[in-house]
This record gives sequence, structure tokens and C-alpha cells, in this order.
Amino acid sequence: MDGALRVTEQARADLLRHAAAAYPREACGLLAGPPAPAPADCYLPLPNRHAGAHAFSVDDAAHVRALLALRRAHRQARAFCHSHPDAPAVPSARDLAGALLGGEPAFPGVDHVIVTVNRGQSTDARAWRLRDGAFHAVALSAAGEVPCSPRC
Ligand SMILES: [Zn+2]
Repeated sequence: MDGALRVTEQARADLLRHAAAAYPREACGLLAGPPAPAPADCYLPLPNRHAGAHAFSVDDAAHVRALLALRRAHRQARAFCHSHPDAPAVPSARDLAGALLGGEPAFPGVDHVIVTVNRGQSTDARAWRLRDGAFHAVALSAAGEVPCSPRC
């Protein structure tokens, strides 16, 4: 049985707010925190270079900067996040292709969270974990309030 992805209320709220603000485009970002089972306690928005509404492409330099900043703050990437404007929070074939590298998870141990944004409102967020070359749903559970680290 897969464990849930635990996220603080603040980090989840920051993710939902960013997803809504990006509408009608897709938002992308990272949930980060101390190693599991501690909850992910911060959300880092990342720039989406893709102009279209139904795709995202994280700026590589921004991605690397975010990962280095997390390492300095002794935090780990816990989930890659993006939004689906006016579409269910279910991974697309493109999402799966982008998450795999030679059939294996491109970032082992990092989950994926997809947010549905309906007409500008974030209405659903679901967590997904790669196993055997496919996405499997895992619970996205709220953790008790932990103040977001000022370093992230
Ligand atoms: Zn997607």
C-alpha cells in the first residue's frame, strides 16, 4: 500500500492559489519539504515557458535553481505540480511521457500533483505516484500546521 503524500495546509493553499492565478494557462511548481514522512511544507512556483493553455514546460534554469535552493535549505522536492485548466486532475499521456526517462521515473521518489482549475477556481488536487511505468493515485493528505520555512 502506498503512503499518502502529506502536505501542510499552507503549502496546499499556495499551490491552489498559484494554479488559479495562472488560469487559463497551466501552472507548474514544486512541493518541497524535509524527507518523508514529514509533510511537504512549502510550494515553489516555477515559470511555465509554454504559451498554450494545455501544456507546460518548466524553464530548465529555473528548475535547476529551485532544486539547488532546496538542497541548501536541506529540503527535498516531494512533488512536481501542474494544473489542468478545465480538465480533470488526471495525468495525460504527455504527463506520463514527461515523467519517465527510458521507462523509469525521471525523478525517483518525487510524486506528481495535478490541480483542476475550473473557470479560474482551483477545485480539485490529486497526487500520483509512478510505479511500473504508470501513474497510481495516492492520497493527498493535509498535515497539521507547520510554519513554512523562511528559507524556501
Ligand atoms: Zn498534465
